[in-house]
Amino acid sequence: MRNKIKGISASRGIAIASPYLLKSPDLSFEKREIDDEEKELKRFHGAINQSKVDLSSIQKKVSVEEAKIFDAHLLLLEDPELISAIETKIKDEKSNAEAALDEVMTTYIDMFEALDDEYLKERAADIKDIMKRIMAHLLNKWLPDLSLIKDEVIIVAKDLTPSETAQLDIRYVKGFVTDIGGKTSHSAIMARTMGIPAVVGTSLASEHIGENDLVIIDGEQGEVYINPDSETVKSYEKRRDEDKQHKETLKQYIDLPTELKDGHTVKLNANIGSPSDVKQALENGAEGIGLYRTEFLYMESHQAPTEEEQFEAYKTVLEQMGDRPVTVRTLDIGGDKELSYLQLPKEENPFLGLRAIRYTLKEKELFATQLRALLRASVYGTLKIMFPMISTIEEFIMAKNMLLAEKQKLVVEGISVSDNIDVGIMVETPSVIMLMEQFAQIADFFSIGTNDLTQYTFACDRMNENVSYLYQSHNPAIFTMIAKVAQAAKKYGKKVSVCGELASDDVAQAVLVGLGVEELSMNAPSILGSRFSLINHVKEDLEILALEVTKMKTQEELMKQVNKFLTQITV
Ligand code: PEP
Ligand code: MG
Repeated sequence: MRNKIKGISASRGIAIASPYLLKSPDLSFEKREIDDEEKELKRFHGAINQSKVDLSSIQKKVSVEEAKIFDAHLLLLEDPELISAIETKIKDEKSNAEAALDEVMTTYIDMFEALDDEYLKERAADIKDIMKRIMAHLLNKWLPDLSLIKDEVIIVAKDLTPSETAQLDIRYVKGFVTDIGGKTSHSAIMARTMGIPAVVGTSLASEHIGENDLVIIDGEQGEVYINPDSETVKSYEKRRDEDKQHKETLKQYIDLPTELKDGHTVKLNANIGSPSDVKQALENGAEGIGLYRTEFLYMESHQAPTEEEQFEAYKTVLEQMGDRPVTVRTLDIGGDKELSYLQLPKEENPFLGLRAIRYTLKEKELFATQLRALLRASVYGTLKIMFPMISTIEEFIMAKNMLLAEKQKLVVEGISVSDNIDVGIMVETPSVIMLMEQFAQIADFFSIGTNDLTQYTFACDRMNENVSYLYQSHNPAIFTMIAKVAQAAKKYGKKVSVCGELASDDVAQAVLVGLGVEELSMNAPSILGSRFSLINHVKEDLEILALEVTKMKTQEELMKQVNKFLTQITV
């Protein structure tokens, strides 16, 4: 019997409870030739309709954000290409509905699983979820209803589909463990929004955990303990209670500024992907939206969002944020993010290819639609517009000129547009840093995208495992570049923010603030913890630390030094 299983940390936190072993019904079937196609088609459509009813009722129970996942499921149930492929198999090949469904959907699943993009890869799980539901209806089997769980448990499953995850009542379900899945699977995303710990991708947890075992999930480390000794239980109970207490303590910082011991302040903003994320941002004390990744608007449907749809989304975010500024990034597509309806060219090196601003400057109609929607929404709050992956001065000027031209057209049409929109850029390429002195004179603000900056600085594809050792976001090279951005921006009175993953990392935060970064934008759940640790610092100490570590030779050396500094602070 294994005592400890390692998996992927999908959602932080500690859970201690008995397991609920999720058993899926046997959905195996025989492939057979049918003689009444009409009857078979009717059976197939009956199963589709019942699945739609199920999904609509699940959708009513979940949050707005989660409901969108099921919009995508419902869309798939109406996808004419998919439905007609299954109908053709039934009609032309005289295949029974089960086999037709299985063959067609498996092709879709394989297609998604073969993609390079982790996010899109995980969408295969959504298709499996729908297939399972239709199949269960065809075979007259019942799928388990997890909303009926009324005991404190940890769900243990081979896989947890989004619709199963949506049924979880967090008063009773303390966390979950699955054999498969990754950090970006929908069930992992949902666990983070629900705030319950989860460990996924354990390979074998469902085989090793028995009904009468006691289970501990360590969501931070991605570890699962089976029947741990009493010492381990005690220490985890203590950590769980401390976590709970700490979360409560952090709530008092929601409306407070992030003021260092010497009175210096740092702004902590949230990164969002859709209007429904604003609520969580505000609940976690975001002082603004530092990065609104608009590509999710484009990824949600089968066609580009209209000007009106975009206007509504931007207006909603601006209105909900009130006085707090909202930085919207224009479409950042290409690289690892594809859009089926845009037909992006297949490229040898997509990360070095037609991506982000390069694409929108080429597809002017698409860009103009987004700019118009943004300009129209600008009167509903404090809007800042930011262009992604700028690498030359000309690109920025072209993009800004397009924005001004659209503004002019709107004014002529009698539509009001704010006169107070800051226009800035993402700093993600080394060329921008070398041209910072020039950029600082023409852009209103800078937001450093350390995820891409790391990739482009080390010439290391962030999706390629063979070179992942080079993806060193804490290397002194990165901080030296950030120092250069901060210095030039300061000289011309412009603001600098960091909105890549580095912004929520406590080691990096100390150095970034020391370098003169004034705003950090991160995932909402990290804001209060960051505020709590930053207020213990003194700006001058951080400046000394930053100067010292940018002179270091390696990432390892830097991490060691900053960690030592942080330990001294907390003692
Ligand atoms: C970045 O590159 O750091 C960034 C914030 O942009 P994205 O992660 O969306 O590429
Ligand atoms: Mg980026």
